[in-house]
Amino acid sequence: MGKLEGRVAVITGGGRGIGKRIALAFAAESASVTIAARTEAELRATAKELERLGGRVEAIPADISSEEDVERLFQRTVEVFGTVDVLVNNAGFGREGKLHELSVDDWDAVMATNLRGAFLCTRAAMRIMIPKQRGRIINIGSISAQRPRLNSAAYTTSKFGLWGLTQCTALEGRAHGISCGILHPGNVLTERRAQRARLQDSEPMISGDDIAQQALLMASMPDNVNVLAAIVMPTGQLYVGRG
Ligand code: NAP
Repeated sequence: MGKLEGRVAVITGGGRGIGKRIALAFAAESASVTIAARTEAELRATAKELERLGGRVEAIPADISSEEDVERLFQRTVEVFGTVDVLVNNAGFGREGKLHELSVDDWDAVMATNLRGAFLCTRAAMRIMIPKQRGRIINIGSISAQRPRLNSAAYTTSKFGLWGLTQCTALEGRAHGISCGILHPGNVLTERRAQRARLQDSEPMISGDDIAQQALLMASMPDNVNVLAAIVMPTGQLYVGRG
């Protein structure tokens, strides 16, 4: 019997990268999985891989910054699988730029997915979890939620905000048997990062599977245990220290 047997998980940004690795890890432990993202072709390809593991999977195209899309995403998951037990707020991205040059469009785009999207999904999940007094929400943060890189004001600010949302969710969820924690990855070699030639993409890396194993650990803890925050990073990453 898998560690997530009988559990239903919604994973945003499950089409590629870290979200896809988490979806595969959860399906391998017998969870039923809904994956959501905007790019349908990636969702379809990932859904096929999940089905090959014998998993029950629903791939739902959705932009999580849209209230309507998020409502549809959770309604459809309940129609197909009956409930939602675990939400992984993974979808997210950054737009680089010096703070004094950053456009309002770039700022708003990052906030719309990384914060508004996480809020909309959390709200929809809690509305399903509160009546059954059970659920778990895992937010994918970043070590940028603690130490910024240069030229990352929008991304860093959104990830600091996600830590705030994590604590508010854990606090309000407490009375309803809902736990919430944040998983902060360091450098993770995803398809996206493998394609780029920025200096930081040549730093030490771990794999998406390393993050997925931590997400699985958090998801499969007993209901009375919450991993409130975890940092998973390359041993060799230049992160801890000071000038
Ligand atoms: P990625 O490869 O670009 O994947 C991001 C996923 O999110 C894609 O499936 C993308 O699909 C989806 N997505 C983005 N905006 C969305 C929206 N508005 N609605 C629905 N889906 C959306 O990125 P990743 O590296 O795996 O990152 C995943 C998470 O880990 C992010 O929150 C990121 O900040 C965090 N993280 C990553 C690293 C790293 O080194 N890779 C380090 C620290 C934290 P569509 O574009 O098709 O919608």
